[in-house]
Amino acid sequence: MTKLSLIKTSTLPEQKYGNHDTQKINLLGMSKQELADFFVSLGEKSFRATQLMKWIYQFGVTDFFEMTNISKKLQEKLDEVAHITPPAVKFKQFSEDGTRKWVFEVAGGSLVETVLIPAEDGKQFGRKTLCISSQVGCALDCSFCSTGKQGFERDLNASEIIGQLWVANQSYMEDVAPTARENRVTNVVMMGMGEPLLNYQPVVKSMSLMLDDHAFGLSKRRVTLSTSGIVPKMYELAKDIDVSLAISLHAPNDELRNELVPINKKYPLAELIKAAKSYVHDENPRHKKHVTIEYVMLAGVNDSDEHAHQLARLLEGLPSKINLIPFNPFPHAPYARSSNNRIHTFSNILNNAGYVCTTRQTRGDDIDAACGQLVGQVADRTRRAKQWKESVQKRQATT
Ligand code: SF4
Repeated sequence: MTKLSLIKTSTLPEQKYGNHDTQKINLLGMSKQELADFFVSLGEKSFRATQLMKWIYQFGVTDFFEMTNISKKLQEKLDEVAHITPPAVKFKQFSEDGTRKWVFEVAGGSLVETVLIPAEDGKQFGRKTLCISSQVGCALDCSFCSTGKQGFERDLNASEIIGQLWVANQSYMEDVAPTARENRVTNVVMMGMGEPLLNYQPVVKSMSLMLDDHAFGLSKRRVTLSTSGIVPKMYELAKDIDVSLAISLHAPNDELRNELVPINKKYPLAELIKAAKSYVHDENPRHKKHVTIEYVMLAGVNDSDEHAHQLARLLEGLPSKINLIPFNPFPHAPYARSSNNRIHTFSNILNNAGYVCTTRQTRGDDIDAACGQLVGQVADRTRRAKQWKESVQKRQATT
């Protein structure tokens, strides 16, 4: 694949967004009910909540004095006690293939990444998928994932999660077509840094705002939560919100998955597949119809014909689409990407077994843009990052 060159890197000297007065309450990321309660606490009617949501999420307005259907008196009151502040953009990168990455500095100085991947056809109003982070770092330490090597720092709150989508929309409109509201993020995947089901409440609250017609109004088919398999939370999720589900599977048997995705030791495949079937097969016929199975292709590790046959057997009875992800190498990664031929053969086996199997195109190679494999920019603060570096140095010394 052709290596793309970086066409624009913008380092912002003063942080755009993110200057918040900690004495005031941040209204970004509040649920509709929380906002309604907030207005009632100010002696206002609760319908103000939906008015405000439209200003924030649909028109991108953060200045109360620009909200023309709100009285001057209320604008002043709001300005006294509240603010609307997305996370600060530390820097952003645009790839030649249209992929964009933002690095946000969140409270406490931690950094998280968000990646926007436009449809390959490059149509201005085509699909634009935003990969959102839910935590700073990740505790799960999947062996092929650079985020896992950084360890876990903290959960993001709802304003930091939904703020990633808010900034991506604003930034896209500012840079590409300031007036074209159609030119917005069309799809969201909770598949960036972190395991979303381990930061449950803020993630569900944020996804509710993504779906809400007064906020982003995305269809439930276009909002996907990707989990490595936190089984009890998958049952909870099915009750709480109707979004699409993806499972980061990556191995077709427990022995291999224990190695690649260590949370499998706690929630082995039989339990995970049972939970996935339950998610798809609930009583409501309007609910989810299939899950997406994410499978990273690691040369010589999980990509043999036998692995493909095992995967086909494992998924029997689970309505699923399989998405093969060519591994995106990061510095000192102990794996290599499977060859195109191997991926093709693996995919054919699954197709012949009756599955829809697609291969994700690698995008934004020049800006390290792969979701869940975000590398390098996050402050190296954890013991795990130190241990990882030491093990790499040891490995290098013995080779
Ligand atoms: S793949 Fe996902 S769950 Fe696993 S370590 Fe990386 S961010 Fe965490």
